[in-house]
Amino acid sequence: MANIGFIGLGNMGGPMAANLLKAGHRVTGYDPVPAAVERFTAAGGVAAAKAADVAAGAEVIITMLPAGRHVREVYLGPGGVIAAAAPGALLIDSSTIDVETARAVAASAEAAGLAVLDAPVSGGVGGATAGTLTFMVGGPDAAFARAEPILQAMGKTIVHAGGPGTGQAAKICNNMILGISMVAVSEAFVLAERLGLDAQKLFDISSKSSGQCWSLTSYCPVPGPVPTSPANRDYAAGFTAAMMLKDLKLAQDAAAGAGVSTPLGAAVAQLYGLYCGSGEGGRDFSGIIRLLRGT
Ligand code: NAD
Repeated sequence: MANIGFIGLGNMGGPMAANLLKAGHRVTGYDPVPAAVERFTAAGGVAAAKAADVAAGAEVIITMLPAGRHVREVYLGPGGVIAAAAPGALLIDSSTIDVETARAVAASAEAAGLAVLDAPVSGGVGGATAGTLTFMVGGPDAAFARAEPILQAMGKTIVHAGGPGTGQAAKICNNMILGISMVAVSEAFVLAERLGLDAQKLFDISSKSSGQCWSLTSYCPVPGPVPTSPANRDYAAGFTAAMMLKDLKLAQDAAAGAGVSTPLGAAVAQLYGLYCGSGEGGRDFSGIIRLLRGT
């Protein structure tokens, strides 16, 4: 069992740290929000007063932070993780952030002789709680081999995507597919409604035809066909539209940086911008159908 430091004990990090504790690891954690720390100590974790205290003495340090600027601050800032980590420590960032920041952190950590991985996740709070997350991991083979047994306490599928930054690349590419497919499915249901085609009938036909996709069959944006989808509970999130917008913007920034044209990704990012701008950013991302329907 390992001595693990965990920084960022929010909606995702809290249950992930709890699963590490359940697996028998010793976990020291830090979060500036007292309620997050209380939940963590109630699960058996040891609270630290600052990020640097978490890093000192940990064999493995995991971060689950909101965005790239938080990751830069926590790793690269004065008294940051890279400066405070013990020699030989393994650093794993599971936040969803820009590829550039992931690579900057990797370069600084490597220069300091520390192993580092970008390891964003898919599966949401439900997956974090159940320990069934998918990890997409970028970084050196040896670091991945060390991380795998630790990540298995929090996830079901652990994929080594390639070198530094490729975990983040996989995450934003996947979520660009998801955003585009959710808008595609939503547009089809709105058109079907106007053409007098029953939503359940469209579902029955398309789920067995070439329109079949996850946004339709697992996360249907209209109530009825998939009882577990957020559409059945007034689009209570799930995965918020604001988070989808964040990921779509990351994909657009990456595409611009790489000189790649992603016209559908750009259009969908704009639609989610409009939806969030209408005050619906806290709703599930499948609620985009309301913007398209105009109700
Ligand atoms: P969250 O806001 O609930 O948690 C982030 C935590 O980081 C907060 O508790 C915050 O207090 C803490 N934090 C902020 N700055 C800090 C600092 N300097 N030092 C230490 N802690 C700090 O967000 P979340 O939903 O847990 O998401 C975390 C990451 O996971 C994001 O990058 C998000 O995009 C990604 N993600 C979220 C989901 C989801 O469904 N929630 C799914 C997949 C990926």
